Amino acid sequence: MCGAVSFTATEVPGTFGACHCEMCRRWTGSALLGVTVPKDKVTWTGTENIAEFQSTSWAKRAWCRVCGSNLYFQFTMDGAWSDEVELPLGLFDDPNGFRMTNEIYIDHKPDSFSYTPTDRQVLTRQQVVEKAPHVEGD
Ligand SMILES: [Zn+2]
Repeated sequence: MCGAVSFTATEVPGTFGACHCEMCRRWTGSALLGVTVPKDKVTWTGTENIAEFQSTSWAKRAWCRVCGSNLYFQFTMDGAWSDEVELPLGLFDDPNGFRMTNEIYIDHKPDSFSYTPTDRQVLTRQQVVEKAPHVEGD
């Protein structure tokens, strides 16, 4: 938001997913709308202004020290998705044209809102844990 931190991503899939887990809900105030990009395809500037928080034993979250904008969610353990970083959709200069392909922790979503149904994949917390056992015990 303030420009103290910025990134360039060279391999952006054009899709994103929504995570409704309790931590993403509290972190974002709603749901994390994350674009999954390979870690090594993202270059950051202003890294001295990036603060990180190890939110579980298996993942960390980062924000800008100056303005507080959320910057990324990243797995810190080996396993599913460990080579990737989740960048909030809203951080892209042009957030248009992306397609939502999945919603996870759907059983934790507040009942006060929902995204327009499409053919995207929708998983409960239990279904996520079955796909990636290392996220159990958040
Ligand atoms: Zn989450």
